[in-house]
Amino acid sequence: MTLIDGKAIAQQVRNEVREQVAEWVAAGHDAPGLATVLVGDDAASAVYVGNKQKACAEVAIQGFDHRLPVDATEDDVKRLLHELNADPKVSGILLQLPPPKHLDGPKLTEEIAPGKDVDGLTPISTGLLHKNLPGLRPCTPLGCMELLKRHDVDLQGAEAVVVGRSDLVGKPISALLLQANATVTTAHSRTRDLDEVCRRADVLVAAVGVAHLIKGDWVKEGAAVIDVGMNRLDGKLTGDVEFDSAVERAGLITPVPGGVGPLTVAMLLRNTLQAAKDAA
Ligand code: NAP
Repeated sequence: MTLIDGKAIAQQVRNEVREQVAEWVAAGHDAPGLATVLVGDDAASAVYVGNKQKACAEVAIQGFDHRLPVDATEDDVKRLLHELNADPKVSGILLQLPPPKHLDGPKLTEEIAPGKDVDGLTPISTGLLHKNLPGLRPCTPLGCMELLKRHDVDLQGAEAVVVGRSDLVGKPISALLLQANATVTTAHSRTRDLDEVCRRADVLVAAVGVAHLIKGDWVKEGAAVIDVGMNRLDGKLTGDVEFDSAVERAGLITPVPGGVGPLTVAMLLRNTLQAAKDAA
């Protein structure tokens, strides 16, 4: 069994982005820029935004940290997003979700210009993904694919089961696996015999948000198991997979924490560089 070291792989990706940004700037271009927009004062969201800004600084991507008060209106947020859409220094825009309750996060996200949608969550980015056309893909699903790629998991004709069908994680992962020629089953809360469905999987991706839903004996011998889940259980961060029993059967498995999580910000940096290049 091989334990996937998400931290190490994320660091490799960050190092590659840093080198590619340096080459881009040496070729006479402006450094790529990432604008983050945080509405309100949610402590967890502020930490996430802070981490993204810090990660930008480490790879010499310019960070633009925009904060709006908790009572900002839909028009206030839209106005800022439109300004950022028009700003040539800004290659990518990230609206930190969820915004305060009176605002509709997914609807506001639609205001981001498709070429700057580094989170890959606008309907246009989603359409490009599902048509397999060039565009920016969602970061966490990209991170899952990167983990499989760096471990040379052969996806051609593989049975892949994705548990979860959210727009943020489950659906885009399913689309990316399908494009990699896996045979994909997307399971969800109404799926019958989930244990049997999971046992078919050469590649099993859990993106549910229920601690230890996926039992060790649901894992096929030798399968690659990617656990996207981030749940609090007895004060500890834990995944959707019952890790201690799943390691007995998996060929390859991500821990939580330290698996998929670190890849999300690394892929955001990569998307920001891609957006800058695409805009040039
Ligand atoms: P979500 O929007 O709540 O979607 C959860 C999905 O799981 C839904 O499709 C739901 O099915 C399905 N589901 C719920 N209970 C189930 C059950 N008992 N059996 C089978 N399927 C079930 O969550 P999300 O945003 O996709 O996030 C999923 C997990 O990933 C969370 O733990 C989240 O914290 C984590 N996450 C991690 C990262 C990261 O590592 N960077 C990023 C994003 C999310 P229905 O559609 O039928 O309701």
